Amino acid sequence: MDLLSIKEMESKYVMQTYSREDVLLVKGQGCLLYDDQGNEYIDMTSGIGVNCLGHNHPKLVEAIQDQAQKLMHCSNIFYSEPMVLVARELVKATGMSKMFFANTGAEANEGLIKLARKYSQDHYGKGRYKILSLVQSFHGRTMMTLTATGQDKFHHDFDPFPEGFDYVKANDIASFLEKLDDSVCCVIMEMIQGEGGVLPLEKEFVQTVAKICKERDILVAVDEVQTGIGRTGSLFCYQQYGIQPNIVSMAKGLGGGVVIGGFLADKKCSEVLTPGTHGSTFGGNPLSARAAQTVLSIVNRPEFLKEVKEKGDYLMDGLKNIASSKIKEVRGMGLMVGVIVDPEQRTQYVHALRHRGVLVLTAGKDAIRLLPPLIITKEQIDKAVSSFQEVFE
Ligand SMILES: *Cc1c(COP(=O)(O)O)cnc(C)c1O
Repeated sequence: MDLLSIKEMESKYVMQTYSREDVLLVKGQGCLLYDDQGNEYIDMTSGIGVNCLGHNHPKLVEAIQDQAQKLMHCSNIFYSEPMVLVARELVKATGMSKMFFANTGAEANEGLIKLARKYSQDHYGKGRYKILSLVQSFHGRTMMTLTATGQDKFHHDFDPFPEGFDYVKANDIASFLEKLDDSVCCVIMEMIQGEGGVLPLEKEFVQTVAKICKERDILVAVDEVQTGIGRTGSLFCYQQYGIQPNIVSMAKGLGGGVVIGGFLADKKCSEVLTPGTHGSTFGGNPLSARAAQTVLSIVNRPEFLKEVKEKGDYLMDGLKNIASSKIKEVRGMGLMVGVIVDPEQRTQYVHALRHRGVLVLTAGKDAIRLLPPLIITKEQIDKAVSSFQEVFE
């Protein structure tokens, strides 16, 4: 089918919740994507931070094929091997204690909030249930995670919202202290606000929040759904912030394109969720866990992570060197980069880049967001940067 007939069917049969780019992708190889016309693109989107090993990665494809032939799914009423191997690797890499497997980012955060509420109820009884999140944050689309999301534009049309949420201004300790009453049980933060506009939190803010929370036995949860799995040059971004959170959620990059997510809990929290209190039919099934196992075997190595950091700096330097007043700022960490432009012009830039063979994302009101596969080469970065140069200079 061609793009036109697919578009027609999409508008007829698929709920219109996305405004899609006018591209019909048919194939991917490494960091390159191809449309139905045979056009080649450098993929600076990774399917929104998912395809961390790019497309058609031989090891990932082989592992999935092998696992599909053996056992794809068996439910959590039985034991299976890939899941425990993934959990062990994540626990060992972080010093956390145990893992819960879910599927998506929203589902991981939803479970994390349940854990935080139960921890507090187990220790302090009722009434200490409030979750503090940050203004401009994004935590998902379920009712709880939507409520935790600190952006009003997502909040229209869906009242009433679940109780027990409040919002703190990022990098503003006074705002945090003002919201910190006796009903708070947990603070959730993205180290770099992704959807919100690629906004890295200040180290001092994060460390101060973590310190105050520790003193009051308030749980610190880090949402690493976008920043996790090597994206910023460490397995998890919080590892560069010098804190030890109580809970860490993840999803996007974990399966390299296969749906898997979940959260780690530290010693204090890892026994809170007991039999029957939480679960997921698909969570950590053999197929998705085998994919995650393969992703981690490649990404969770010091040399690989060091390269992500170097390539990220290289990309940011290249973008910063573009002599154009149309680029207001380049910010980010590792291969999570925001290029800040005039909001009115942004769509036009995105299209111009696409016509030059570079696919990008947007975030917040003024960021062009780049989340290339972690395996991107310097040559591919050079090519992408020169397309930026053509568009902006
Ligand atoms: C994408 C994202 C989510 C939601 O993940 P889904 O898989 O779409 O449910 C939650 N938190 C952050 C930080 C994200 O980037």
